[in-house]
Amino acid sequence: MGHSIWQLARHAWSGHRGWPSFWRESRPRPAYDALIVGGGGHGLAAAYYLAHQHGMRNVALLEKSWLGGGNTGRNTTIVRSNYLAPVSARFYDFSLRLYEGLSRELDYNLLLSQRGVVNLAFSRQQLKHMSRRVNALRHVGIDCSLLTLPEVKRLLPLLGERSAAGRQVFGGFIQRRGGVMRHDAVAWAYGRAAHALGVDIIQQCEVTGFRIARGAVTGVETTRGPILAPRVGIAVAGSSSLLASELGLTLPITSMALQAMVSEPVKPVLDVVLDGALYVSQTDRGELVFGGGTDVYPSYAQRSGIERVEDNVSALIDLFPAFGALRFLRHWAGVVDLTPDASPIIDAAPVGGVYLSCGWGTYGFKAIPAGGVALAHLMATGQAHPLALPFALDRFRTGALIDESGSAGMDDREALL
Ligand SMILES: Cc1cc2nc3c(=O)[nH]c(=O)nc-3n(C[C@H](O)[C@H](O)[C@H](O)COP(=O)(O)OP(=O)(O)OC[C@H]3O[C@@H](n4cnc5c(N)ncnc54)[C@H](O)[C@@H]3O)c2cc1C
Repeated sequence: MGHSIWQLARHAWSGHRGWPSFWRESRPRPAYDALIVGGGGHGLAAAYYLAHQHGMRNVALLEKSWLGGGNTGRNTTIVRSNYLAPVSARFYDFSLRLYEGLSRELDYNLLLSQRGVVNLAFSRQQLKHMSRRVNALRHVGIDCSLLTLPEVKRLLPLLGERSAAGRQVFGGFIQRRGGVMRHDAVAWAYGRAAHALGVDIIQQCEVTGFRIARGAVTGVETTRGPILAPRVGIAVAGSSSLLASELGLTLPITSMALQAMVSEPVKPVLDVVLDGALYVSQTDRGELVFGGGTDVYPSYAQRSGIERVEDNVSALIDLFPAFGALRFLRHWAGVVDLTPDASPIIDAAPVGGVYLSCGWGTYGFKAIPAGGVALAHLMATGQAHPLALPFALDRFRTGALIDESGSAGMDDREALL
């Protein structure tokens, strides 16, 4: 069903009681052509592109909990493509371009707000690194510009240039096409579109193991019984290493809690998104939503320690002293899947018919459309998508790492905290 002005008016007339459900909850059938494990953005996007781009419709998506209830529905929704390595920048920019057309493609307003993403430099050295990053990005055709201190102050009038803690701002850089969008809308829109193309959406169905014969997968064991399929895509974020261990694989992934938090709502005070070791933006409702680093110890628990709350709040107030007057409203956490080089893994597993999309860590929301296209391509053709070739597992053996720790905000942390 479309969301035209006429539909909205018609449903408003009847008290919005007649909207059809986005998808019909399916019961697992005994066998499919392909299964996708994980109903976050990456799994849902892969299901949609499998059906839409590759004509594979006898597909089921298995989610242990509810769609978008993992990191996809818990993140701070920053989208950008200002990554350092050309292979990453191209990949993330492909994703941003898909996001730019996605509301129209899926006929669902994803509330993409390209208000600009700003990073700050806290030393002359950091500003030099940023100018290198801006040049590298311009070489691959991505919009980015360096900001002088007066330009930064115009964009962020409440920013304290120097803090009591001794931090000083020297300038920064901006990607104007970057911004924020509605995270659960992304999950729901992909889920609705995949279902409309014939994909079975099965929630409350945890995959607990795999059926393997002669080195290839033949199906999965679930809490709702076995389901057979010759291809299985795995997109389970913080649970990736747990599920991989059922295949006898050890992935180069550490799972850690990453939390985000919001203040009480206020009138508009922040027009851009500030990114880096501390990231903050203002929601449409007026809350400041912000976050920082992961908790310091590995964990599979979807809750976080108080230490990071204190770090993030003090970093926020150190940058913007005026925000000290706000009340803290709530915080939550997701379990993120971190790789040593802060880049994802999109590859076939050593077990035949099993495909991995993981290692999306603290930065995978922006990558959902491209990650979905890449996983679908891999599952349908058995070949890596050209843009995803560098993100193979093998790089941890060959040493061809794609170090994006700076782009993921990890390098700035010491300057700020
Ligand atoms: C607090 C926070 C802030 C973030 N901020 C940003 C940001 O601003 N920008 C950005 O780009 N990224 C951000 N991220 C990262 C981003 O949210 C993730 O990288 C992305 O959402 C990962 O999507 P996914 O589909 O791989 O995982 P998820 O959305 O976590 O989905 C995985 C799904 O798999 C399911 N699952 C797990 N095990 C099983 C099983 N055995 N059987 C069946 N289902 C299973 C889970 O229930 C879950 O629903 C942030 C993350 C967090 C936690």
